[in-house]
Amino acid sequence: MLKISREEIIDGKFERVLNFFRSRSLWMLYYCTGCGAVELPPTMTSRFDMERFGISPMATPRQADILLVTGYVSVKTLKRIVYSYEQMPEPKWVVGFGSCPVNGGIYWNSYATINQLDKYIPVDISIPGCMPRPQAVIDGLLSLMDSIKKGEAVGYKKYQMNNEWYKKNQREILERTKPVLGGKK
Ligand code: SF4
Repeated sequence: MLKISREEIIDGKFERVLNFFRSRSLWMLYYCTGCGAVELPPTMTSRFDMERFGISPMATPRQADILLVTGYVSVKTLKRIVYSYEQMPEPKWVVGFGSCPVNGGIYWNSYATINQLDKYIPVDISIPGCMPRPQAVIDGLLSLMDSIKKGEAVGYKKYQMNNEWYKKNQREILERTKPVLGGKK
């Protein structure tokens, strides 16, 4: 329950109120990159019922609050993930689902995947596991809701403040996807 004092209303300190309501109405874009996506249907449907917490699927980044990346990220997919993230309106949050976005998981030494998603876009919460069960997914999303409510989930602000660093990392990895023509890159 959110209690708002009269002084807060008079002072116009509405951010705390906005964060409370934001945390209870979240539209989530599923970027289903890896095998962990198979745990989403039971998380969404009647047994675990994600919607009872106010979290619903969204088909377009332009109306989404959360970007859920469900597993390993190939170098080519990273470009699309960055496009999707940048199209989302602020405030916005990213969830890394499974071990692969945290440290590469079982693909840690693959030439085709990245190892650490938060080098390229800010990850607000990671749900580790290979693959995480619906209970772990719900637990992770509740933690994210709590951080949003407290105003502590501020990855999108870090992306603005450290944009040069993120862009440098993105460029370095995306160089690998350039076509090789006549033996030259
Ligand atoms: S964490 Fe495991 S289940 Fe998820 S994408 Fe990686 S290998 Fe697949």
